[in-house]
Amino acid sequence: MTAAPAAAPRPPAARLPGVDRVLSTDAARALAAEHGASATTAAVRAAIDTLRPAALAGELPREALAPEAVAERARTQLAARLAPRLVGVFNLTGTVLHTNLGRALLPDAAVQSVLRALTQPANLEYDLASGGRGDRDDLVEGLLCELTGAEAATVVNNNAAAVLLTLNALAARREVIVSRGELVEIGGSFRIPDVMTRAGAKLVEVGTTNRTHAHDYQGAIGARTALLMKVHCSNYAVTGFTKSVPEAEVAQVAHAAGLPLVVDLGSGTLVDLGQWGLPHEPTVRDVVTAGADLVTFSGDKLLGGPQAGLIVGRKDLIARIKKNPLKRALRVGKLTLAALEPVLRLYLAPEHLPERLTTLRLLTRAQPEMQALAARLQAPLQAAVGIGWGVRAAPCFSQIGSGALPGGTLPSWALALQPVSPKGAGRALGRLEAALRALPRPVIGRIEAGALWLDLRCLQEHEVAGFEAQLPRLTEALAQA
Ligand SMILES: *Cc1c(COP(=O)(O)O)cnc(C)c1O
Repeated sequence: MTAAPAAAPRPPAARLPGVDRVLSTDAARALAAEHGASATTAAVRAAIDTLRPAALAGELPREALAPEAVAERARTQLAARLAPRLVGVFNLTGTVLHTNLGRALLPDAAVQSVLRALTQPANLEYDLASGGRGDRDDLVEGLLCELTGAEAATVVNNNAAAVLLTLNALAARREVIVSRGELVEIGGSFRIPDVMTRAGAKLVEVGTTNRTHAHDYQGAIGARTALLMKVHCSNYAVTGFTKSVPEAEVAQVAHAAGLPLVVDLGSGTLVDLGQWGLPHEPTVRDVVTAGADLVTFSGDKLLGGPQAGLIVGRKDLIARIKKNPLKRALRVGKLTLAALEPVLRLYLAPEHLPERLTTLRLLTRAQPEMQALAARLQAPLQAAVGIGWGVRAAPCFSQIGSGALPGGTLPSWALALQPVSPKGAGRALGRLEAALRALPRPVIGRIEAGALWLDLRCLQEHEVAGFEAQLPRLTEALAQA
């Protein structure tokens, strides 16, 4: 450990080992074997640079300047560089389709398909029947048409892209009529008026915030009108003295003037969720049947698939959209299509969806199951957080999330953690939240009414063991927080 004889006092900086001296240690040689010589040299140099100011000030013990100690610092830095930034977490926020936590979880069928697409060449744009060039949309167009009753379909990066592309293809330099009650802002800066501008279309607002009538649409139609548009009020509800015009009626107004109706359905479910006790939402098929000429919706909201934007509707309009250069810029990659196709296929057997489609399984999870889970985890969690905390199993409400069914809440069960002492409770909750985030697989809950709530709806059965196994680490993390 001793880098220099204790009897010979030297200026502190001189005691810093040189780069070569550190690189010649066994520890540094092992690092070079794993990370490569150049990265190891850079890390050693960085470690020495970090130590230099304190070493010059004489603030470091001799051991900290030993070549082995410097190599150890370099090791920590190299290891941190290899640690992934995108990690799995436990979503115990109670919001099932949580945009910040990646929205829908995909079923195994999609996972297997993505794995194949990642590791094998695939017929992405290759027609296996003719041996000629194919179109990537063909992989899912038939399924989308069958499931929605539409004539044609195309797929882009997300629903925001679907709206942008549709407006640009059908309404550039022309007018689009939208009700003032539907000028939504979705999180992450998607605002209908802004998208309209970017698409090169001119927004014509009709009606008022709370009431819009069919004659409002009618009166706004002019020579420059390209289309009428309806937008799903995904993340808010207008209640009280309200009126909006149903799709079928707006479609009539549009068609009487020879114009198309485009509906941005947001979440866009393919089945009636009411049959499983969830709030009823019009399906994509309902809206197509009502007369919408095009419908756009997300792949990773209620549909339960990968991030994607789906556009279904009239063949001639889809053809115009596919010819637009923006389509090429906004198209999906093979991983998206690989994930989307098996998810859509699950919808061919709708009665099995609650077991097979992960999103629906989580949304329809039985209360007794979540209650039993809360009872089972109460004691281990109490043991992990210690006597400073009260941990109880309690009923709560989950949300669907991602702007789907904003009014709908789902009865669920949670573990609620509350500091025993009311003094400094806010700070204690913040520390607990941080400690949960610091776990190997971070746990994300929510603070509400003086407690930290861990909603167990999205803790899947196969993950419970992993959740429990890291609880002892919570004790350490809390001590450090
Ligand atoms: C969510 C949503 C969007 C945006 O969809 P992304 O798939 O997130 O791009 C657009 N319009 C409505 C009405 C939505 O609910």
